Amino acid sequence: MKPITAPVPGHLAMVPFVSVAHMMQLVNQRGIEKVLHELADMIEVDFKRWPEFDKSARVAAHSPDGVIELMPTADADNYGFKYVNGHPKNMKEGYQTVTAFGVLSSVANGYPILLAEMTVLTALRTAATSALVAKYLAPKGAKTMAMFGNGAQCEFQAIAFKTLVGIDTVRLFDIDLAATDKVARNLANSGLKVVKCHSGQEVVEGAEIITTCTADKQNATILTDNMVGSGVHINAIGGDCPGKTELHRDILLRSEIFVEYPPQTRIEGEIQQLGKNHPITELWRVMRDEIAAPRNPRQITLFDSVGFAIEDFSALRYIHACVGQGAPHELLDMLADPDDPRDLFGMLLRADA
Ligand code: NAD
Repeated sequence: MKPITAPVPGHLAMVPFVSVAHMMQLVNQRGIEKVLHELADMIEVDFKRWPEFDKSARVAAHSPDGVIELMPTADADNYGFKYVNGHPKNMKEGYQTVTAFGVLSSVANGYPILLAEMTVLTALRTAATSALVAKYLAPKGAKTMAMFGNGAQCEFQAIAFKTLVGIDTVRLFDIDLAATDKVARNLANSGLKVVKCHSGQEVVEGAEIITTCTADKQNATILTDNMVGSGVHINAIGGDCPGKTELHRDILLRSEIFVEYPPQTRIEGEIQQLGKNHPITELWRVMRDEIAAPRNPRQITLFDSVGFAIEDFSALRYIHACVGQGAPHELLDMLADPDDPRDLFGMLLRADA
């Protein structure tokens, strides 16, 4: 799927906007499994051309209750950024823990070519990335995944692992049983066998893949060393901020650790618990076959996911391509467009007349 870098023809100063309603239409019309596949393909293509990107750790504004982050990156054609928050206390007050929107622009003239909601899109791209990584690292033929944290991200993760990795069973655990019930309801027709569990010990039973997807603004210990058997793949997505982790340090010491962008993960990921020289492997090198994935079936692998700007860039590229193929959107009057580019003031005067 190729992105279109020119503005939508006939509306040169208008910017396509994909709202939450449009995004839901897009996903429901295309089918979530197809969307996850296409997103994972786009992310894999972009990981494989990693050196072509301008990269930096995201810019974060921390407060006692949460964080607000900007995540920029660019290649030769496009610039993208996402605005995203993370406020674990929000859920209890009836708000989302994570909300986001993003912009894709043309590098050639700096004009935005897409504005999109990214709350739903972040859940999709996070799930697509997790499952893509598991295709490289999880035990071959894995059928069962344990999920700690049954909040907003949970179903997206479960469906991505079903469709991309081939799991057939998901085991659920959350400290709030209502969250587990919600996921069980939502996945009733997914084709997955859903098992509701009542403790961390119970949820990991028989699981070849463990996903930790909880939200708490502290160094939590969701997973302890004794819960993780040999050969398990851990997909740790909830620890994504300084002072916010999910795994006991001993698990990290037994694992081969894979990350997106080390300068960001060293600050935000589970590995903030380790020394700054602890060995880690960059995923793009595995995807480019520069470094082999572990061959020893007893090796524990850990994807220390924090979410990196290139995944959002891929997601925006994907949505832009869908818009080019007629996906739901509206056009926003976001760019001043005087007939003479220098006559911005004249445009203002004429509008008054
Ligand atoms: P959410 O608030 O909707 O859900 C979190 C769930 O975790 C809640 O149901 C809560 O009851 C549960 N929980 C909290 N502590 C627990 C514990 N000790 N054991 C079991 N369950 C527990 O949040 P969400 O949108 O699903 O996000 C989950 C986490 O993933 C957040 O920390 C978020 O920042 C992170 N996240 C990471 C990425 C990434 O790319 N790595 C992307 C999106 C979200």
